[in-house]
Amino acid sequence: MRRVIPALSGLCLLLGGAFLAYSIPASAQTDATPTPDPMPTQSFQLDEPLFAEFDENALHIPPDFMGNLELIAETDHFLIHASRGYFPVDDPEQFARDAEEVYDYVSTRLEVTSDEKTIILFERPDSNVCPVRGFAIVSPPSDPYAGDYPPEIVIYTDENTSHTQIMGVLAHELGHVLTQRNNEQWWMPAEAGHSEGMATWAAGRYWHAWQGTTSFSDSVRAHFEQSKYLSLREHYDLEPAYSGGDCLVSRDILYTEWASFIEFLLYEYGYERLEALFRSPKWEWVETDEERVLYVTLADYQGVYGLELNQLEAQWLDHLMSEAETARTPARRTCPLCEASSAPAAPSAP
Ligand SMILES: [Zn+2]
Repeated sequence: MRRVIPALSGLCLLLGGAFLAYSIPASAQTDATPTPDPMPTQSFQLDEPLFAEFDENALHIPPDFMGNLELIAETDHFLIHASRGYFPVDDPEQFARDAEEVYDYVSTRLEVTSDEKTIILFERPDSNVCPVRGFAIVSPPSDPYAGDYPPEIVIYTDENTSHTQIMGVLAHELGHVLTQRNNEQWWMPAEAGHSEGMATWAAGRYWHAWQGTTSFSDSVRAHFEQSKYLSLREHYDLEPAYSGGDCLVSRDILYTEWASFIEFLLYEYGYERLEALFRSPKWEWVETDEERVLYVTLADYQGVYGLELNQLEAQWLDHLMSEAETARTPARRTCPLCEASSAPAAPSAP
């Protein structure tokens, strides 16, 4: 479920591309140990194949796709279409009601609203080794053409796809749409981990229903116990999520971990700092006579939190483990009223 941005949307397009080429030197691969380890500035030559993946042909959208859409249902927030006659949903009215429930949930969770109607359409399941299950096309408000194109969500599904997956994908992709375009101008993540983590966190109960999990915290603890944990710092480019035959397993693990990490940052440090982090990456084109180079400075954890990513990662994991420890230790029952009077304590409910 990588988010794909149209070629016109500068910021996310460039950062997304940069992440594909980004790698961490071996000396920096220190697991989650709290040692200062700044995220380096990266530079990219214009003529490298960095941007080939974001060629419009790579979006899997036929050039005349708008002409191939047939409106099946319209709700307060969605335009639900058949694409080239493909509409693998038995009951469009029920799907429309379910989609509105997803909007209400995700919008409430993010505390944002949208006046735009998002296009929903379906594609047959992706048969690639490392398949896409859904994606959102959404331009950031900084894109001068953003207002010309409604956000769009594509769900890859057929009659064998579970209802919980369809709803999970829809909620996740709507998370991308609403964190990028909302009336309140909130969130606006740009980097891949931030963007996927926010979309996954926004999907909340729909994500858990699909994944068979109960909470992001419990999921990360389970990854640890099963030795499946993937360090955020080591896999900052999310590379295992998008390559190899078992990429879906890695994708779900990394997306869930980023959702849990962002939840920790939000609850422990507050919204303002999280938003500052999301908006902290910088990028700059430098042109000389011989070449054109893009410099990308990654998110500034040190500047926003006074800690590097791996230090915050270690803090978050400590928090998760102590949370579990607290849950295992029964709290002592206190009865202040009993101590203040000689009246016998009322029996507690079973
Ligand atoms: Zn996504």
